[in-house]
Amino acid sequence: MFIFDLQIANYRNYGQVQLDLDRGLNVFVGDNAQGKSNLLEAIYLLSTLRSSRASTDADLVRRDILDSEFPVARLACQVERSAGNLQLEVAVVGRTTGSSYRAGKRVRVNGVSKRASEAVGQLCAVLFTTLDIEIVAGPPLLRRRYLDMMISQVDRGYLRAMQKYARVLQQRNSLLKRVQAREASAAELTFWDQELAHAGGIIMLARADALGHLAMEGALQMERLSDEAETITMTYRPALGGLDEHDCPIDETEWTARMLRALSNLRHREIGAGSTLVGPHRDDVNIEINQFPADSFASRAQQRTAALSMRLAEASYLRKCLGDDPVVLLDDVLSELDARRRKGVLEYFDSFQQTIITTADADRVRDVLTRASGRFVVTAGSIHRFEGE
Ligand code: ATP
Ligand code: MG
Repeated sequence: MFIFDLQIANYRNYGQVQLDLDRGLNVFVGDNAQGKSNLLEAIYLLSTLRSSRASTDADLVRRDILDSEFPVARLACQVERSAGNLQLEVAVVGRTTGSSYRAGKRVRVNGVSKRASEAVGQLCAVLFTTLDIEIVAGPPLLRRRYLDMMISQVDRGYLRAMQKYARVLQQRNSLLKRVQAREASAAELTFWDQELAHAGGIIMLARADALGHLAMEGALQMERLSDEAETITMTYRPALGGLDEHDCPIDETEWTARMLRALSNLRHREIGAGSTLVGPHRDDVNIEINQFPADSFASRAQQRTAALSMRLAEASYLRKCLGDDPVVLLDDVLSELDARRRKGVLEYFDSFQQTIITTADADRVRDVLTRASGRFVVTAGSIHRFEGE
């Protein structure tokens, strides 16, 4: 799929922008703090309905208009897809409550209002940023988010299970606290165990499935990018309290059964802790580079190549699930790579319908500009197309 028309209004540092994007490679050049990352964040938000970096939605609305009567940021795009063309609109509507700002999202797909969860993944995208190295070097939360943002785009059941899991987890945790305080009986947990394990089974099966593909493709890319000098292995580590963590069942009922067993084994400890100690909210992905744990042994450059390989694997996973190409977004990641790896990445995306790249340093990535079909310059929240190199 590819985006051919993009409109931005009052989003971050942008006023009004209308862009005709090309198929193939689009490059956005601009100095620091001009709006390059904001642009890719906007496109990724149209895809996932979540900001890749804002802490609250209110941050997305242009600051100058937050005090106005109608503080609304709007994003809209038109997409050509093999599943039928798409018109997508997101409005981030701000309001002031006391001294703080809040905002909520309204979404329309082909002119019809939808819940955000129904609109996720209508436009499918993969985003590379310079923070990706944290997927390899950082805490488990970031690896779970890597899986969640990817799988939710192509599996509506997964997204629903995630939402249900979060609700049930909250209720179960408050029940555990009440049982601990002897305000409720432990027997009441049985119902919530079932609910949690049912949603958990759906999530764990989908994560295990996705990792099957990601591990294989990631390893291939790591080898290719490093001229066969480095290897990466990725293994799913479901949090089941030490129970059967090393083989992956192939059906959902078996995952659910394992989670129920884990919950029953840990019941006393969970009551003592007043919180749920097993389940997908504690899962991790084990990453090894050249057979050593990637976070504690690998060099920064190795970690960066590993993260890059994981994103390439993500693009391939999305393409496989969709039967269509995701839009590829690269936020300033090419300038930190050497020429060989840069070429490796660009060649990989040659076969994708659309790639959108930002760079602060056009001189370092001349080779990219030469390949581009659309070239744009970003200055203080306005964007202009330019010809030549
Ligand atoms: P770099 O090369 O440093 O990564 P960039 O071009 O990617 O820079 P962005 O991250 O897109 O820059 O940010 C551009 C500017 O947008 C920043 O100066 C930031 O302060 C501003 N900005 C962010 N949110 C808002 C907002 N809600 N309203 C107005 N300006 C904002
Ligand atoms: Mg940036």
